[in-house]
Amino acid sequence: MTRDYDIIILGGGIVGAAMALALENTALNIALVDAGSLEVSSGTLSDDKFDPRVCALTEASINLLKHLGVWEHIHSQRACPYSGMYVWDAAGTGSISFSASELNVHHLGHIVENSIIRNALLSRLLKSDIQLLSGIEIQGLRQGKNDGVSLRLWDDSQLHTRLLIAADGAGSRARYWAGIPMREWDYLHHAVVTTVEIEEPHEGTAWQIFLDTGPLAFLPLPSSSDGRHFCSIVWSLVPDEARRIMKLPDKQFLATLGSTIEGRFGSIISAGERLCHPLRQRHARQYYRGQVVLIGDAAHTIHPLAGQGANLGLLDVASLTEEIKRAQSREEDFSAPHILDRYQRSRESHNLAMAGIMEGLQRLFHSDHMLFRWLRNTGLNMADRIPLLKQEIVSRAMGLRGDLPEISRNSK
Ligand SMILES: Cc1cc2nc3c(=O)[nH]c(=O)nc-3n(C[C@H](O)[C@H](O)[C@H](O)COP(=O)(O)OP(=O)(O)OC[C@H]3O[C@@H](n4cnc5c(N)ncnc54)[C@H](O)[C@@H]3O)c2cc1C
Repeated sequence: MTRDYDIIILGGGIVGAAMALALENTALNIALVDAGSLEVSSGTLSDDKFDPRVCALTEASINLLKHLGVWEHIHSQRACPYSGMYVWDAAGTGSISFSASELNVHHLGHIVENSIIRNALLSRLLKSDIQLLSGIEIQGLRQGKNDGVSLRLWDDSQLHTRLLIAADGAGSRARYWAGIPMREWDYLHHAVVTTVEIEEPHEGTAWQIFLDTGPLAFLPLPSSSDGRHFCSIVWSLVPDEARRIMKLPDKQFLATLGSTIEGRFGSIISAGERLCHPLRQRHARQYYRGQVVLIGDAAHTIHPLAGQGANLGLLDVASLTEEIKRAQSREEDFSAPHILDRYQRSRESHNLAMAGIMEGLQRLFHSDHMLFRWLRNTGLNMADRIPLLKQEIVSRAMGLRGDLPEISRNSK
């Protein structure tokens, strides 16, 4: 048996779910397919339990989420605005700070738990005419010439589509089956993530210290109703050190974390579940092949030190949506190579530039060489004294500069 769709989106993570919602009201027959569940997870939020995976969402991402009609829901669930950012070098005297007031904005971004973003998108999708196909593991795909894409399921039935949008994450099978090669290398870092309760308030600021083992970020989370303070941490470490930190008993972990962040928040009172992610940079050498097109982590992954991965994926969504809708309005074939090529051109250089910046920062801060040390201290302090340069850096980090797709520039 074969089921036919105009567009199939493979992978219902944040990026795939946003893509599906962005294509609502296009009069196309669309399916969102995931190997796991596409149900809204039912766990109730308590004000001292957090998803250890969070995203620092930029204004551009928030604009897209507003446009998709989910931001209010996300905001009402839980989102922590931050209006300051402070970055410093543990091995020297260099530091730089950013504040929303320098840019005349209310905040620099929001920290939101991944599960809250995904749940909001899935709740809206349940009310749409997009078909949600959960628990479907694809076994392979075949592309004919101008014949669309056929996906083989475990029971030998098939799904057929004119365009397959692969949002199936960093280890994308669709990318592999479509024969799209990657440039990839190991950052030689693992990220340890968890949520911690801290003694003193985080002041609505995202804090990041650069150590010679890698950066440690404390990202602000909402305080509980009884006045307790929380942060999500992303601690990037060389793999041996990450393994050691993962194995530490709780008491030792809290003490090590507290001294590493130089006691900035008083004592670290408790920590939630610890997760460890190996970090690799990946970039697809082409964003489409035939009628398979890549978005989000399926197309690129970068070091989380500037919290940009999902933000870049959401910009892919905005850009591909624009191309598909423009083709529809001109009665062109939305899966034609020149349409997918325009999407690739609009996103590839931006994604590559961000990957290059992450790579440069990671190398600069990872080196113990005198020259790099000097550059770090002098560079950070000098940049801190040049308001125009700081404005440029922070507005780029907020996703407010560059050639942005229309729907991430303006909110409804
Ligand atoms: C430690 C850490 C911190 C981060 N912090 C930030 C941050 O602050 N800001 C930010 O913007 N980004 C951040 N990121 C990056 C961000 O988490 C990712 O870029 C984003 O979650 C990727 O979303 P995605 O939907 O592309 O992929 P995924 O979330 O990986 O989703 C892929 C989906 O595809 C499904 N799937 C996979 N294979 C198949 C298959 N064969 N068939 C069907 N379905 C399949 C999976 O079930 C899953 O639902 C961070 C990443 C890490 C590791």
